[in-house]
Amino acid sequence: MFDDLREGGWDTDAYLGPSEFYNNFGRFDVTIDVPAGWIVGATGLLQNPEQVLTPTARERLSRVLESDSVRTIVGADETRAGRGTLAGDRLRWHFVADTVNDFAWAASNRYVWDATRAVIPGDETVPVHILYLPGDAQRYAQAGPTVRHALQFYSQLWIPYAFPQLTIVDGPEGGMEYPMFIMSSVGAADHETGHEWWPMMVGVNETWYGFMDEGFNQYMNILSDADAEGKAPNLDGLGQIYGRVSGDEREAPLMWDANYGGPMYGFQAYEKAPMMLSMLGGIVGDTAVRRAMSEYARVWRFKHPSPWDYAFAMDNALDRDLGWFWYSWLFTTDAVDGSIQQVTTSGPSTTVTVRQDGQMPSPVVLQVHFASQGPAIRSMPNSTMTDSVTAIVRYPVDVWFGGSRTFQAELRFGTRKIDKIVLDPHCRFPDRNPTDNVWPRDPTLVATTGGMFGPVACYPHRDGG
Ligand SMILES: [Zn+2]
Repeated sequence: MFDDLREGGWDTDAYLGPSEFYNNFGRFDVTIDVPAGWIVGATGLLQNPEQVLTPTARERLSRVLESDSVRTIVGADETRAGRGTLAGDRLRWHFVADTVNDFAWAASNRYVWDATRAVIPGDETVPVHILYLPGDAQRYAQAGPTVRHALQFYSQLWIPYAFPQLTIVDGPEGGMEYPMFIMSSVGAADHETGHEWWPMMVGVNETWYGFMDEGFNQYMNILSDADAEGKAPNLDGLGQIYGRVSGDEREAPLMWDANYGGPMYGFQAYEKAPMMLSMLGGIVGDTAVRRAMSEYARVWRFKHPSPWDYAFAMDNALDRDLGWFWYSWLFTTDAVDGSIQQVTTSGPSTTVTVRQDGQMPSPVVLQVHFASQGPAIRSMPNSTMTDSVTAIVRYPVDVWFGGSRTFQAELRFGTRKIDKIVLDPHCRFPDRNPTDNVWPRDPTLVATTGGMFGPVACYPHRDGG
């Protein structure tokens, strides 16, 4: 890999396993010589189907793009020379792939071959090939629809899938990704297909910066899962979880070389970035995050963005300077530790004293619950009513930049009684102890660690609830 951000240009990092690859884009022209009867799947387009497949298999292949149905190309009773492939001694399968950063292939004399299609929004319709062992037919029954949904959903979400096909193959591997080609169980197929965006189209350095590859993929998998279930994604709670992880001395910051990520490599590469993007959504809105990520993918398509390029692309797309945000999330293991210290009311004015004990700042978001009866609730700048008795009040992160550890939020909603105030009500900010975000204090609230992958419940929640 040649990268002009490196001293001397050449990236010569050793392949150590989990944090995978960093490769240039290139063209592969590969011929695989196998015994007749063996089925081969690979990165790229098969150039010579008439030299390896029977007329029957070729005729079936020619109909794949016609509909969403999953078609048999080579059935379980056809996996031999003269039935699936042409007869003979050996056959040479010729594949060509353009603008790819790797090439992978799989072959078996027992592969059953199914195929279907994905209609790529803004691009062409592409075939999806499914190669599996006959005993795994049940397990691969949903492979076609799962991969189709992923290709179509992620094309809509970020940028259109740019490759001419996708092949999923069965084998001794739970989930590994290559251009146009995934070795995957159906359970991991959505995730592995997501890798076609990073690192296959947006060529990130996953050896060093796993979060730009696995982490962004985990984030989009949450959105895809919700879409597949016909639900709106819920990223509430996810950002807050990091507050209870921060401080573990084994955690390496996201900018630390993931090849040497240590015992918390999985957290660093996979789990932290979705928490970061949950917090970003709590600041700019989830829709704006998705638009900005899409813009980042568009700008860096078939290029090699560094984390700095990513942060600048996001700042540009969001039209704001988020230097403080990227500094905390990428370069440190700091978290927020916000609390409501005091609430005092005097006539129509209520003063909320918010304290920030963490090293990561955050905007101040207050949810104000009013009594159901009483004088009219007046409107206030920086606030929106979410129902007739609940307001959200927002102050920008800048309130902390003067160096003070406390901020006085002046609420001027009139004389309607305030029953309760919650700091960060959507649990987007990584708070070390969220139980002190509620006023008046509720002794039944407990901080819990919760699951790592969203959507998760918004904490704190009630003990045993
Ligand atoms: Zn992955």
